[in-house]
Amino acid sequence: MSLLTEVDALPAPRADRVAPHRYRVVAGRVLAVSEPGHWAFLSAPEYREYLAGLPDAHPRFDELRVKGFLAQYLDFDRLAADAMEGSLLSWEGSHRLVLTLARGRARMSPDTLREAVDFAFTIPGPAVCLELVAADPEAVWPLARFAAEYAARRSEWNGRRSRLWLRTPALPPARRADEYARVGLGLALVRDAAAAPGLGVAAARFSAAAAERAAPASRLVLTWSPKARSAPIWASALRAAGFGSALVSPEAPTTLAQVPAFAAFYAAFLDAAVSDGPPLREEWAAAALRRLPPEGGRPREERGGPLPGVDVSGELCAAPDGTLFASERGAASPDAQGGIGALGALGTTAWEELAAKEGVRALLAAAEGDHHPLCSQCAYKPACTVAPSRHLAAQGTYWGNLPLSPACGAQMAALDALFARLADDSLRESLLGWADSWSLL
Ligand code: SF4
Repeated sequence: MSLLTEVDALPAPRADRVAPHRYRVVAGRVLAVSEPGHWAFLSAPEYREYLAGLPDAHPRFDELRVKGFLAQYLDFDRLAADAMEGSLLSWEGSHRLVLTLARGRARMSPDTLREAVDFAFTIPGPAVCLELVAADPEAVWPLARFAAEYAARRSEWNGRRSRLWLRTPALPPARRADEYARVGLGLALVRDAAAAPGLGVAAARFSAAAAERAAPASRLVLTWSPKARSAPIWASALRAAGFGSALVSPEAPTTLAQVPAFAAFYAAFLDAAVSDGPPLREEWAAAALRRLPPEGGRPREERGGPLPGVDVSGELCAAPDGTLFASERGAASPDAQGGIGALGALGTTAWEELAAKEGVRALLAAAEGDHHPLCSQCAYKPACTVAPSRHLAAQGTYWGNLPLSPACGAQMAALDALFARLADDSLRESLLGWADSWSLL
């Protein structure tokens, strides 16, 4: 089985004219993607002309030269810089630390929580991102407030920005909105896309309070399921509640058979998000775009960053007892304690020790696209990574079997939907703006 696409009657590429790249048929056009992730849409005849050796006077010549698709103009210094920027070689540290404040009857102690915040500030990177997780936000409110206030103090001490969200499926009472904003704690609400949005006035209070005090903005983590309500319903509920950001992660499909329904929902959500109305961004698409070089010289503070949920590079997770795991998903797996994703404990394991751990090395190797035959041929490789723990959950191996993987299928479908819209001149700028404005998700 191949998930790759083909164009008929392609000539043999001229090695002296055609730079290494991959292609994929998207929205009836040929999407060419260079090794560092520059991309261009061509018609099938244009792509054939390109492979045969594009004449200097061709209308696409300059664009393809600037983007590094012409072998005779390859800028090896720039290629090396692009390769550095987009690879693990310039990885600074895990993107966020997930703190499970409560699970069942287990509750994180204040001492462990303080150690967790201290640990987060030892992870290199432009800013510190903490995501606190609990099913009942009121039960953990004193802990969450302490984490936010302590992180703010640490930010003052050493000048590093920090951002915190409390991720919970239960909307806290509206009277807490001002307190969340005052301590700089954002609300990340989790919803099953099959349920009624149920955001309403209380959710809007949190958005308004956060905007007033420049606290982290409210976000929605939307979990797709086969009975999901329509995507535009969700988009309008988000806008009504003042939420400007939602993560519709391609995590949810658990079988390949579910992928087409997920893909339809995801595409409809992108369409609703870029339609007229208050700004609304889909975070997974923003993160994928951010892995690619900026288009057309667009300014961007920093490039790269992993996709949400990828073990070690994207996140680390601390359990209520302070055990450190490679990811939240990994921490929840039945064999987590003895698995390669168990990395030590807060208070005794230093960030600097992680790189020497076999588990960390194995997970980084398993996530690397060049190590997978299908990814190494896929046009989406520069934008895409499947979390090894996701492979483990779906297919019983950290490495995964990509041609049969629902994770690969869902991410390929999400990227097809995203790039199909990038091919549309009227949508491209809005979508690229998501990556430019992306901040610490
Ligand atoms: S995991 Fe991503 S890069 Fe790899 S084949 Fe699937 S879509 Fe392509």
